[in-house]
Amino acid sequence: MWNQKKTQNERIFNKRREALVDELVSKGIQDERVLKAFAEVPRHKFIDTALSHRAYEDSALPIEMGQTISQPFTVAKQTELMDVEPGDKVLEIGTGSGYQAAILCAMGAKVYSIERHQILYDRSRDILKQLGYRAELKCGDGTVGWSAYAPYDAIVVTAGAPVVPEALKAQLEINGRLVVPVGDESKQAMYRITRHGDDDFEEERFSIFKFVPLIGKEGWSK
Ligand code: SAH
Repeated sequence: MWNQKKTQNERIFNKRREALVDELVSKGIQDERVLKAFAEVPRHKFIDTALSHRAYEDSALPIEMGQTISQPFTVAKQTELMDVEPGDKVLEIGTGSGYQAAILCAMGAKVYSIERHQILYDRSRDILKQLGYRAELKCGDGTVGWSAYAPYDAIVVTAGAPVVPEALKAQLEINGRLVVPVGDESKQAMYRITRHGDDDFEEERFSIFKFVPLIGKEGWSK
């Protein structure tokens, strides 16, 4: 009986997940690799069960420590801008729920992710492991990057930064992409920095988003 109910719920989640993918397409997401990952990764597993009925709405939802799992459109847009190929080495700053890390794993990237809150680090490590996504996680300040595994083909910052962190630019591979929201604490423009040479960086700016603050050495102070 219980198992039957569980299967029924999974079926409902699958349907809603398909509808979310259609919604992302209607909002302009085109990268098939991104859409395929969204069709696969069970977002409802990355949030509190009390909220799982809202898992496939295109909205940010609260997680612990006053943080949020980003809006699906935002995750999709950042991932599309990163232009991830299978096998790419990717660094994420702000693991949060672990959902963005799972999307990147589903796309075949080798994923490294840093979270400053121990409790979120513990939770995301457990859920990613349980679902079979192999990401290397670390608890600490991600604004200084993770030099041990640098350089990266792509870096994504999933919290709002006051400036582009220099340490992250320095850890980009040639042709690497850094996607980071930059602005004040109420809104940020999405930046993509592409490294063309040792000291040759191209900066593009995209639309406005609203993220929780990036806190750390090259972020906001507490
Ligand atoms: N990518 C996440 C989004 C979480 S919200 C997801 O898919 O759920 C952003 C996260 O960044 C929060 O969990 C916050 O604690 C974390 N964060 C903020 N500043 C940070 C820093 N300097 N280093 C690492 N994590 C940071």
